Amino acid sequence: MKLININNLSKTYHTKEKEILSIDDISLDINESEIVSIVGPSGCGKSTLLNILTNLEKPSKGFIRENKPLIIGYMMQNDALLPWLSVRNNALIGLKLQHKLTSDNIDYVDTLLKKYDLYEFKDSYPNNLSGGMRQRLALIRTLAIKPNILLLDEPFSKLDIDSRITISDDVYNIIKELNITTILISHDIAEALSLSDRIVVLTKRPAKIKRIYDIDLTEYPSPSQKRQTPEFNKLYNMIWSDIDHVS
Ligand code: ADP
Ligand code: MG
Repeated sequence: MKLININNLSKTYHTKEKEILSIDDISLDINESEIVSIVGPSGCGKSTLLNILTNLEKPSKGFIRENKPLIIGYMMQNDALLPWLSVRNNALIGLKLQHKLTSDNIDYVDTLLKKYDLYEFKDSYPNNLSGGMRQRLALIRTLAIKPNILLLDEPFSKLDIDSRITISDDVYNIIKELNITTILISHDIAEALSLSDRIVVLTKRPAKIKRIYDIDLTEYPSPSQKRQTPEFNKLYNMIWSDIDHVS
């Protein structure tokens, strides 16, 4: 089933000096339970698209239809953990802001912290966590509100390559287990390929859809295993040559 229809979406930013066309006539359907990655050169309009989906920005043209009420979990480019709050209170902050600190919801957060190996650090502070642990915490905070769609904007870009591969496996397991529709923005083709059911390649700004790839690597259970297959390398090269690399 289609969860979201994006119809002929365009976005122009009006600044004092000039107008910047960021997104140019994008139409795309997002299916329920799929993981879709959006890749494209830096500055092409990827974050703009997510900001429109979350209503942080208004489209200049076109519209988005939601086929059921969305509960959006949005993980922005920086993990935005609050250094003065404990791990547990960081995990609870989204619920608190929405006035949903019920005992059931708090139990759910504790379950997530236990499941993803952060419970024993619940009274520590974010600065004492490794990069991968911070990322897991940011994800738990996002999941605490029980979203039915996850928007991840380059969530792992600050991590080193080894942590990125480990956290990709963790995040993939979490998303698949909870069966949450996910849109992942990434400029790392290998990361997008290892996680996604579909990859949308955008042109350089203004972003248009250049090509859409259906990725069928489902026989490999984890992102890190997918990375080691010949099909993976072939797709990697195809997508690489599709992207307008900005030098
Ligand atoms: P990406 O996430 O693909 O790197 P963005 O969506 O952040 O790109 O930005 C796309 C273009 O829109 C860039 O040229 C950027 O400078 C411009 N832009 C983004 N946000 C704003 C804004 N609030 N005001 C003006 N221009 C913006
Ligand atoms: Mg961005």
